Amino acid sequence: METDASTTPRALATEAVHAGREDLAGLGLHAPPLDLSTTYPSYDSRGEAARIDAFAATGARPEGPPVYARLDNPTTGRFETALARLEGAQSAVAFASGMAALTAVLLVRAAAGLRHVVAVRPLYGCSDHLLTAGLLGTEVTWVDPAGVADAIRPDTGLVMVETPANPTLAETDIRALAHSCGSVPLLVDSTFATPVLQRPLGLGARIVLHSATKYLGGHGDVMGGVVACDEEFAGKLRQMRFATGGILHPMAGYLLLRGLSTLPVRMRAASATAAELARRLTVDPRVARVHYPKLGGAMVAFEVYGDPHRLIAGVTLITPAVSLGSVDSLIQHPASISHRIVAEGDRRAGGVSDRLLRMSVGLEDVEDLWRDLCEALSTQPARTEGGSVPVLRPVVR
Ligand SMILES: *Cc1c(COP(=O)(O)O)cnc(C)c1O
Repeated sequence: METDASTTPRALATEAVHAGREDLAGLGLHAPPLDLSTTYPSYDSRGEAARIDAFAATGARPEGPPVYARLDNPTTGRFETALARLEGAQSAVAFASGMAALTAVLLVRAAAGLRHVVAVRPLYGCSDHLLTAGLLGTEVTWVDPAGVADAIRPDTGLVMVETPANPTLAETDIRALAHSCGSVPLLVDSTFATPVLQRPLGLGARIVLHSATKYLGGHGDVMGGVVACDEEFAGKLRQMRFATGGILHPMAGYLLLRGLSTLPVRMRAASATAAELARRLTVDPRVARVHYPKLGGAMVAFEVYGDPHRLIAGVTLITPAVSLGSVDSLIQHPASISHRIVAEGDRRAGGVSDRLLRMSVGLEDVEDLWRDLCEALSTQPARTEGGSVPVLRPVVR
């Protein structure tokens, strides 16, 4: 029997290098073009009026040229198409950063009168801050996954979770949580997993958010955010993006599309190295606790007995820097940097200990990384023979 190429699903690795590029051969191109236009010529103003009315009605991407770059861009559109395909979503909408993407989601819900958000800690520090500070006029109730159903109110517009979570790598059962949400949409920030390890929409989530700055870009040189969802919600997000202006720059769209093509290979390689480092850290007497997701992935977090600042100062190959998901390894101290903006009590409630370090494992050789970690760990006291925990002495600089 012949297989129908248009309906047979392609593997993720194939989609990663082909999705969003279907029309290139017809255009006589191989590499995707970069369209930097801010505006597009049209000699038919009546036609433009109809296209603008259509966008105002549904938020669908306009047929033909985009009218204006804040409305749509063909290069960014290729990235959106590809990411939607990888997530198994109808649509995806890209933004200037992960925070701009989350902002648009919250504003769309608030505009519908649904200002209440139920969220599970920990979240990325700035996401926690955006919700806690109510900067967008939203109100948040923080709960454990088991408390979600009881926390939902008539004005709840969103349930939000990160899994694996930043920075503790805590995992939430998406299917069970989606069930607790009833008709309220569940947003999963899947930045750490990427579609290579987890596709939340297939597990009952309605909205997937990525800081594209991290693994999707993958090289530490582009900021972006993206939301994968159904076309109806995507339309509302596009209208919100048009009105509020948090668009992704086309150059960033170009780099993100390029990043997607190596995403499966990068994730597999970095995850294998991270799993091996997590294994070695687990048996190291200078390490109190290791956090590594059952799902796998390229992030490892661990707690030390001594001063985490001394460990950060002791790395030479690994870069001491915030952010993650690049080809090179980074390490940072969440209580000082990524989650600094979260109040100390809230941070602790989310499981973010002051001795926790978060490492983003890149594509270096595992032995080189381990040597660097061991050097840095030499600044730390070890568990004694009897297993007693050393007393943390303040470090005088
Ligand atoms: C970095 C990050 C964000 C914010 O993304 P930006 O691109 O920095 O705005 C959101 N969620 C998670 C899990 C992150 O790691």
